[in-house]
Amino acid sequence: MKKIVVIPGDGIGKEVMEAAMLILEKLDLPFEYSYYEAGDEALEKYGKALPDETLEACKKSDAVLFGAAGETAADVIVRLRRELETFANVRPAKAIEGIECLYPGLDIVVVRENTECLYLGFEFEFGDVTEAVRVITRKASERIARYAFELAKREGRKKVTALHKANVMKRTCGLFRDVCREVAKEYGDIEFNDYYIDAACMYLVMDPFRFDVIVTTNMFGDIVSDLAAGLVGGLGLAPSANVGEKSAIFEPVHGAAFDIAGKGIANPTAMILTACMMLRHFGYVEEAKKVEAAVEKAIKGGKKTPDLGGYLKTLEFANEVARLLD
Ligand code: ATP
Repeated sequence: MKKIVVIPGDGIGKEVMEAAMLILEKLDLPFEYSYYEAGDEALEKYGKALPDETLEACKKSDAVLFGAAGETAADVIVRLRRELETFANVRPAKAIEGIECLYPGLDIVVVRENTECLYLGFEFEFGDVTEAVRVITRKASERIARYAFELAKREGRKKVTALHKANVMKRTCGLFRDVCREVAKEYGDIEFNDYYIDAACMYLVMDPFRFDVIVTTNMFGDIVSDLAAGLVGGLGLAPSANVGEKSAIFEPVHGAAFDIAGKGIANPTAMILTACMMLRHFGYVEEAKKVEAAVEKAIKGGKKTPDLGGYLKTLEFANEVARLLD
């Protein structure tokens, strides 16, 4: 029995989680789900965005399924990633048939380092002068580079591209680039190259098919993965996984999206595909494929939420996917 901590969180997190759980419960797998609170509402209720009870449960679980946190995201999800040492943030950007997007057929994965860089929050203020410290280590760079190559090998992907800005950030990005180049030598069968992050953004927009697996540091990875999501139809479709040696956290790329929260119109596809990443993580590949196929079939059949030009509500879409699973 796998212990799964479910945290719906804030805003549309609650709505998309309800939809994804509807699908997961239907699969009837040996998973034990327990629900916990975290986020803006938890902060108001308990004085802590990530209550101790939630953190303890996450530490004892086999995986965390997370919806979204609003203003408190840094205190919740960034902290959880650190506490559970989930060093790799995997964000696939795969075009789904039936969805109009900039690049039909695109299938790339962004592997983002999750534990260091500017997101450590080492920020200082001296009057009108503010500073932020960027930490990049050989250990974390090597770990994420190897993870990217192993993922490429596992998924039969052909190429890994490292993104950095080593011409300006000579020490931090320089180390990351050098370590990626060293690790690449161990994987002769997989092509490797590296780009400056700014040039890579242009290539991503103009010719994204030159990419397959992207590996990069924390903040660049955050930005580039949203960009990649935009190439294949937007945030409503983008799943992600945070993977460590012992734990894993599965969360959609999107946040709480308060502008559409409470209306029941959020697209649950990102959350459902995120649940599929969890299924694959635990070896339930056939089940994941079945759900992914049902999502594609629903969309191809014109069953869409408003963000994709359709009229279905969040739960109506989930029910359609559940129906197609039968
Ligand atoms: P964060 O800063 O954590 O990324 P946010 O609330 O600023 O969160 P997102 O939630 O990532 O921003 O989303 C940006 C916009 O994209 C939202 O305001 C919303 O309009 C749209 N969006 C995001 N997710 C979805 C979804 N699942 N379905 C439909 N629209 C979405």
